[in-house]
Amino acid sequence: MEITLLGTGAAEGWPGLFCNCSICAHARATGGKNIRSRASAIIDGVLKVDLPPDLHMQAVHNSLNLRDLRYLLVTHSHDDHLCPTELQYMGQWFTTEAVPQTLQIIGPSPALNRIRREVDITKLPICLTTAMPDHLLNFCDYRITAIEAVHDPSQLCLNYIIKAKDGTQILYASDTGWYTETTWQFLERQEFDAVIAECTKGPTPTEYSGHLDMFQVIEMKMRLLRANSITTHTPFVATHFSHMGGYTHEQLEAALAQHGIVTAYDGYSFSVKPSTVLATAR
Ligand SMILES: [Zn+2]
Ligand SMILES: [Zn+2]
Ligand SMILES: [Zn+2]
Repeated sequence: MEITLLGTGAAEGWPGLFCNCSICAHARATGGKNIRSRASAIIDGVLKVDLPPDLHMQAVHNSLNLRDLRYLLVTHSHDDHLCPTELQYMGQWFTTEAVPQTLQIIGPSPALNRIRREVDITKLPICLTTAMPDHLLNFCDYRITAIEAVHDPSQLCLNYIIKAKDGTQILYASDTGWYTETTWQFLERQEFDAVIAECTKGPTPTEYSGHLDMFQVIEMKMRLLRANSITTHTPFVATHFSHMGGYTHEQLEAALAQHGIVTAYDGYSFSVKPSTVLATAR
């Protein structure tokens, strides 16, 4: 499984569009890994997680032709994760040749309803499949299990367990706060070859429970280690950072590296294979 994190920022991007804090000033002055577009990932060039408003520049920067996409997993309907009108450019008025295959769009019903409201799905080569917590969806190339995120009480938000045909299995955990005990028990029965977890609040815990801070991400890793769901060698990658946390990319990287956690940046790529360590340990 080849994974690229196309965007690694929270809703307002990094620097924040209208923000003047020292972290945003540093980002504007230095650029590079301190520039974060809205969170999104692509797997094996065919499966995309979320459809943020930065889609166009993410595709350009990563030399992607989205005609190759087969699957789009949508976590929830917030604007930084779902910009349905981008889908209209699959239509006949915007391509010289018809898109050759149907794009399977998988997501919670509030997100799919938003797509139905904002684009005419009857004129596009897309197929919508409703995902529900703890239900397994089987596609040709991937098995997808949605789990319930703790993010927005007004709508169902999902995170995903993605399993490839070769057995590689990863957890994509964004957006979410700390999972419920039921979800934790489900996760503790799984094995993961990589975990991608949001770290929106960085080193600054707040009362808001719909996102994770750095200390919760570290505890998440420890809990999965204790359950043998991962090993110390399993790639554990943090994403969806906000400048409001108060650390630059370099400061986040230094803090998280002490716990074996990678601080992702836009364009960060890694490959994952089924873990022989786990296979032999059990
Ligand atoms: Zn978000
Ligand atoms: Zn800022
Ligand atoms: Zn959100």
